[in-house]
Amino acid sequence: MADNCIFCKIIRGEIPAAKLFEDDELLAFRDINPAAPLHFLVIPKKHISGPAAVTTEDEQLIGRMLRIGGEIAKKEGFDDFRVVFNNGAKAGQTVFHIHMHILGGRDLNWPPG
Ligand code: 5GP
Ligand code: ZN
Repeated sequence: MADNCIFCKIIRGEIPAAKLFEDDELLAFRDINPAAPLHFLVIPKKHISGPAAVTTEDEQLIGRMLRIGGEIAKKEGFDDFRVVFNNGAKAGQTVFHIHMHILGGRDLNWPPG
C-alpha cells in the first residue's frame, strides 16, 4: 500500500469506484473517464508501480489479472476487447500502480496512437 496512490485509496475504500470484481488480491472497476463503451481496470491490491516493476513472485498474480479481466468482459457481454498495460509516462501511464485496461464495444485502431 502506498499512502498517496489513488488506486491504493480505491482499494482502501477512501475513494469510491464502480467495482466489477473484488477478492483478496485483485480489484476491477470501471474507468472514470472511459475511452470505449466497455472500459474497466483490473489492479492487484499489492502496490506495484508498473509493468517494469513486476518480479518473479508476481507472475501468478499478473496472470490472474488477465483471466479475471477476460471473464468480466465476457460477463459484460463483450467477446472482442483490447488489453492494455501502459509503462512509463511517455507510453501514457498516469497512475503508477500497475493496472490492466480492458476496452471494447467499438472498433479499435491498430497501431494505437
Ligand atoms: P494510465 O493512463 O495510467 O494507463 O491509466 C490510468 C487510468 O485510470 C485512466 O484511464 C484514468 O481515467 C483512470 N483513473 C484515474 N483516476 C481514477 C479514479 O479515481 N477512478 C477511476 N475509476 N479511474 C481513474
Ligand atoms: Zn497503489
